[in-house]
Amino acid sequence: MIDSDIKKDLVFAYHLFAKFGWDDLTYTHLSARSADTSSFYILPFGLLFQEVTVSNLIRVDFNGNVVEGIDMIYNPTGYVIHGSIYSHRADINAIFHSHTHANVSVSATKNGLQPISQWALHFYDQIGYHAYDSLALDLKTQGDNIAKDIGENMLLVMENHGAVVCGQTIPEAFYYHHHFENACKVQCMINNNQKDVIVPDAAVCKRSNQDLLSFEEKRGSRDWSALKRLYGYEAEFKLSNSERPRKASNHHCNTELV
Ligand SMILES: [Zn+2]
Repeated sequence: MIDSDIKKDLVFAYHLFAKFGWDDLTYTHLSARSADTSSFYILPFGLLFQEVTVSNLIRVDFNGNVVEGIDMIYNPTGYVIHGSIYSHRADINAIFHSHTHANVSVSATKNGLQPISQWALHFYDQIGYHAYDSLALDLKTQGDNIAKDIGENMLLVMENHGAVVCGQTIPEAFYYHHHFENACKVQCMINNNQKDVIVPDAAVCKRSNQDLLSFEEKRGSRDWSALKRLYGYEAEFKLSNSERPRKASNHHCNTELV
Protein backbone atom coordinates (compact mmCIF):
# COMPACT_ATOMS: atom_id res chain seq x y z
CA MET A 1 0.00 0.00 0.00
CA ILE A 2 1.17 3.53 -0.68
CA ASP A 3 1.19 6.16 2.05
CA SER A 4 -1.79 8.10 0.71
CA ASP A 5 -3.99 4.97 0.89
CA ILE A 6 -2.65 4.08 4.34
CA LYS A 7 -3.56 7.55 5.57
CA LYS A 8 -7.06 7.37 4.07
CA ASP A 9 -7.71 4.05 5.78
CA LEU A 10 -6.34 5.35 9.09
CA VAL A 11 -8.59 8.42 8.92
CA PHE A 12 -11.55 6.12 8.22
CA ALA A 13 -10.61 4.08 11.29
CA TYR A 14 -10.62 7.22 13.45
CA HIS A 15 -14.03 8.20 12.12
CA LEU A 16 -15.40 4.69 12.68
CA PHE A 17 -14.16 4.70 16.27
CA ALA A 18 -16.03 7.95 16.82
CA LYS A 19 -19.17 6.57 15.20
CA PHE A 20 -18.99 3.38 17.29
CA GLY A 21 -18.34 5.32 20.53
CA TRP A 22 -14.93 3.72 21.06
CA ASP A 23 -13.11 7.08 21.37
CA ASP A 24 -12.35 8.94 24.60
CA LEU A 25 -12.40 12.66 23.79
CA THR A 26 -8.82 13.60 22.83
CA TYR A 27 -7.23 10.64 24.64
CA THR A 28 -6.10 7.38 23.06
CA HIS A 29 -4.71 6.96 19.58
CA LEU A 30 -4.78 4.81 16.47
CA SER A 31 -1.76 4.46 14.22
CA ALA A 32 -0.58 2.81 11.01
CA ARG A 33 2.93 2.02 9.84
CA SER A 34 4.19 4.06 6.88
CA ALA A 35 4.88 2.33 3.56
CA ASP A 36 8.66 2.53 4.07
CA THR A 37 8.12 0.77 7.47
CA SER A 38 10.39 3.22 9.34
CA SER A 39 7.70 5.37 10.97
CA PHE A 40 4.00 5.54 11.74
CA TYR A 41 1.06 7.89 11.23
CA ILE A 42 -0.95 9.08 14.24
CA LEU A 43 -3.22 11.97 15.14
CA PRO A 44 -1.84 15.15 16.69
CA PHE A 45 -2.70 15.36 20.38
CA GLY A 46 -5.68 17.60 20.95
CA LEU A 47 -7.97 16.52 18.12
CA LEU A 48 -11.21 14.62 18.52
CA PHE A 49 -11.31 11.50 16.38
CA GLN A 50 -13.97 13.10 14.15
CA GLU A 51 -11.53 15.92 13.39
CA VAL A 52 -8.75 13.71 12.03
CA THR A 53 -8.07 14.17 8.31
CA VAL A 54 -5.44 12.96 5.85
CA SER A 55 -3.80 16.38 6.00
CA ASN A 56 -3.52 16.70 9.78
CA LEU A 57 -2.08 13.24 10.50
CA ILE A 58 1.52 13.40 11.68
CA ARG A 59 4.32 10.94 10.93
CA VAL A 60 6.58 9.88 13.80
CA ASP A 61 9.72 7.76 13.83
CA PHE A 62 10.40 5.05 16.41
CA ASN A 63 12.33 7.45 18.61
CA GLY A 64 9.35 9.76 18.99
CA ASN A 65 10.53 12.42 16.53
CA VAL A 66 7.84 14.07 14.43
CA VAL A 67 9.17 13.77 10.86
CA GLU A 68 6.11 15.01 8.99
CA GLY A 69 3.30 17.38 9.97
CA ILE A 70 2.90 19.65 12.94
CA ASP A 71 2.41 18.05 16.33
CA MET A 72 0.35 20.72 18.05
CA ILE A 73 0.97 19.29 21.50
CA TYR A 74 3.46 16.48 22.02
CA ASN A 75 1.87 13.27 23.35
CA PRO A 76 4.70 10.99 24.43
CA THR A 77 2.39 8.21 25.66
CA GLY A 78 1.27 7.56 22.09
CA TYR A 79 4.82 7.24 20.87
CA VAL A 80 5.85 4.92 23.70
CA ILE A 81 2.97 2.50 23.12
CA HIS A 82 3.01 2.51 19.32
CA GLY A 83 6.74 2.97 18.72
CA SER A 84 7.74 0.13 21.03
CA ILE A 85 5.41 -2.37 19.38
CA TYR A 86 6.31 -1.39 15.80
CA SER A 87 9.99 -1.63 16.68
CA HIS A 88 9.62 -5.16 18.01
CA ARG A 89 7.00 -6.61 15.65
CA ALA A 90 7.67 -6.33 11.92
CA ASP A 91 4.38 -8.13 11.19
CA ILE A 92 2.26 -5.40 12.79
CA ASN A 93 1.21 -2.47 10.60
CA ALA A 94 -1.70 -1.01 12.58
CA ILE A 95 -2.17 -0.39 16.31
CA PHE A 96 -5.37 0.81 17.98
CA HIS A 97 -5.20 1.93 21.62
CA SER A 98 -8.57 2.48 23.27
CA HIS A 99 -10.27 3.04 26.59
CA THR A 100 -13.87 1.84 26.47
CA HIS A 101 -16.04 1.18 29.51
CA ALA A 102 -16.15 -2.50 28.59
CA ASN A 103 -12.47 -3.06 27.88
CA VAL A 104 -11.33 -1.06 30.93
CA SER A 105 -13.74 -3.09 33.08
CA VAL A 106 -12.35 -6.40 31.82
CA SER A 107 -8.79 -5.06 32.12
CA ALA A 108 -9.40 -4.51 35.82
CA THR A 109 -10.39 -8.13 36.53
CA LYS A 110 -7.81 -10.63 37.77
CA ASN A 111 -8.81 -13.33 35.27
CA GLY A 112 -8.95 -10.98 32.27
CA LEU A 113 -10.97 -11.96 29.20
CA GLN A 114 -12.82 -15.24 29.66
CA PRO A 115 -13.61 -17.67 26.77
CA ILE A 116 -17.36 -17.36 27.23
CA SER A 117 -18.49 -15.99 23.88
CA GLN A 118 -17.61 -16.65 20.27
CA TRP A 119 -16.28 -13.09 20.14
CA ALA A 120 -13.86 -13.92 22.95
CA LEU A 121 -12.67 -17.09 21.22
CA HIS A 122 -10.91 -15.01 18.60
CA PHE A 123 -8.35 -14.41 21.34
CA TYR A 124 -8.29 -17.79 23.07
CA ASP A 125 -4.88 -18.27 24.64
CA GLN A 126 -3.60 -15.34 22.57
CA ILE A 127 -3.67 -12.33 24.86
CA GLY A 128 -0.84 -10.41 26.47
CA TYR A 129 -1.39 -8.62 29.78
CA HIS A 130 0.50 -5.54 30.92
CA ALA A 131 0.42 -4.51 34.60
CA TYR A 132 -0.59 -0.91 35.23
CA ASP A 133 2.47 1.31 35.44
CA SER A 134 1.07 4.87 35.43
CA LEU A 135 1.29 6.85 32.19
CA ALA A 136 3.43 5.26 29.49
CA LEU A 137 6.12 7.94 29.28
CA ASP A 138 9.42 6.07 29.13
CA LEU A 139 10.27 4.38 25.82
CA LYS A 140 13.25 2.50 27.25
CA THR A 141 11.59 0.87 30.26
CA GLN A 142 7.80 1.03 29.84
CA GLY A 143 8.01 0.74 26.06
CA ASP A 144 10.17 -2.35 26.28
CA ASN A 145 7.79 -3.90 28.81
CA ILE A 146 4.81 -3.24 26.55
CA ALA A 147 6.60 -4.96 23.65
CA LYS A 148 7.61 -7.87 25.89
CA ASP A 149 4.10 -8.27 27.32
CA ILE A 150 2.29 -8.33 23.97
CA GLY A 151 4.69 -11.09 22.88
CA GLU A 152 3.48 -12.73 19.67
CA ASN A 153 -0.15 -11.76 20.27
CA MET A 154 -2.29 -9.20 18.48
CA LEU A 155 -4.05 -8.09 21.68
CA LEU A 156 -2.51 -6.52 24.76
CA VAL A 157 -4.79 -5.89 27.72
CA MET A 158 -3.39 -2.96 29.68
CA GLU A 159 -4.60 -3.70 33.19
CA ASN A 160 -6.73 -0.98 34.81
CA HIS A 161 -6.29 1.04 31.63
CA GLY A 162 -7.66 -0.35 28.34
CA ALA A 163 -6.57 -2.20 25.24
CA VAL A 164 -3.94 -2.22 22.54
CA VAL A 165 -5.26 -4.06 19.49
CA CYS A 166 -2.98 -4.72 16.54
CA GLY A 167 -3.29 -5.97 12.98
CA GLN A 168 -1.23 -6.84 9.96
CA THR A 169 -3.52 -4.33 8.24
CA ILE A 170 -5.83 -1.54 9.39
CA PRO A 171 -8.98 -3.59 8.59
CA GLU A 172 -7.56 -6.50 10.58
CA ALA A 173 -6.92 -4.30 13.62
CA PHE A 174 -10.50 -3.04 13.31
CA TYR A 175 -11.74 -6.64 13.07
CA TYR A 176 -9.94 -7.58 16.29
CA HIS A 177 -11.11 -4.44 18.07
CA HIS A 178 -14.73 -5.15 17.12
CA HIS A 179 -14.56 -8.71 18.42
CA PHE A 180 -12.70 -7.75 21.59
CA GLU A 181 -15.12 -4.93 22.41
CA ASN A 182 -18.15 -7.20 22.01
CA ALA A 183 -16.48 -9.94 24.06
CA CYS A 184 -15.83 -7.43 26.85
CA LYS A 185 -19.41 -6.14 26.75
CA VAL A 186 -20.80 -9.66 27.08
CA GLN A 187 -18.47 -10.42 29.98
CA CYS A 188 -19.55 -7.24 31.74
CA MET A 189 -23.25 -7.93 31.16
CA ILE A 190 -23.10 -11.36 32.79
CA ASN A 191 -20.65 -10.39 35.48
CA ASN A 192 -23.25 -10.62 38.24
CA ASN A 193 -24.15 -14.19 37.30
CA GLN A 194 -20.69 -15.67 36.92
CA LYS A 195 -21.62 -18.95 38.60
CA ASP A 196 -24.12 -19.69 35.83
CA VAL A 197 -21.77 -19.09 32.93
CA ILE A 198 -21.12 -21.93 30.49
CA VAL A 199 -17.44 -22.19 29.59
CA PRO A 200 -16.83 -24.34 26.50
CA ASP A 201 -14.43 -27.23 26.73
CA ALA A 202 -10.81 -26.18 26.20
CA ALA A 203 -10.46 -28.32 23.06
CA VAL A 204 -13.57 -26.70 21.57
CA CYS A 205 -12.21 -23.24 22.44
CA LYS A 206 -8.95 -24.08 20.69
CA ARG A 207 -10.66 -25.42 17.58
CA SER A 208 -13.06 -22.46 17.46
CA ASN A 209 -10.14 -20.07 17.69
CA GLN A 210 -8.45 -21.77 14.74
CA ASP A 211 -11.69 -21.87 12.72
CA LEU A 212 -12.48 -18.21 13.40
CA LEU A 213 -9.03 -16.98 12.46
CA SER A 214 -8.80 -19.09 9.28
CA PHE A 215 -12.35 -18.42 8.10
CA GLU A 216 -11.23 -15.87 5.54
CA GLU A 217 -7.95 -14.88 4.01
CA LYS A 218 -7.95 -11.18 4.88
CA ARG A 219 -9.43 -10.73 8.33
CA GLY A 220 -11.66 -7.68 8.53
CA SER A 221 -11.60 -6.74 4.87
CA ARG A 222 -15.25 -7.74 4.23
CA ASP A 223 -16.54 -5.66 7.16
CA TRP A 224 -14.22 -2.81 6.22
CA SER A 225 -15.63 -2.66 2.70
CA ALA A 226 -19.20 -2.83 4.02
CA LEU A 227 -18.56 0.06 6.40
CA LYS A 228 -17.04 2.15 3.60
CA ARG A 229 -20.22 1.64 1.60
CA LEU A 230 -22.43 2.38 4.61
CA TYR A 231 -20.74 5.66 5.44
CA GLY A 232 -20.25 6.88 1.88
CA TYR A 233 -16.48 6.47 1.64
CA GLU A 234 -16.74 4.29 -1.42
CA ALA A 235 -15.83 7.06 -3.84
CA GLU A 236 -12.35 7.21 -2.34
CA PHE A 237 -11.78 3.48 -2.01
CA LYS A 238 -11.76 0.52 -4.35
CA LEU A 239 -12.21 -3.12 -3.43
CA SER A 240 -9.39 -5.05 -5.06
CA ASN A 241 -9.62 -8.69 -6.02
CA SER A 242 -7.04 -9.54 -3.37
CA GLU A 243 -9.32 -8.09 -0.69
CA ARG A 244 -12.30 -10.21 -1.62
CA PRO A 245 -13.43 -12.68 1.02
CA ARG A 246 -12.17 -16.16 0.24
CA LYS A 247 -15.66 -17.59 -0.19
CA ALA A 248 -17.23 -14.66 -2.03
CA SER A 249 -17.54 -16.44 -5.38
CA ASN A 250 -20.80 -18.19 -4.44
CA HIS A 251 -22.30 -15.25 -2.64
CA HIS A 252 -25.38 -13.71 -4.16
CA CYS A 253 -24.70 -10.18 -2.91
CA ASN A 254 -22.86 -7.75 -5.18
CA THR A 255 -19.77 -6.49 -3.36
CA GLU A 256 -18.48 -4.42 -6.26
CA LEU A 257 -17.90 -0.80 -5.36
CA VAL A 258 -19.20 1.84 -7.73
ZN1 LIG B 1 -4.40 4.96 27.34
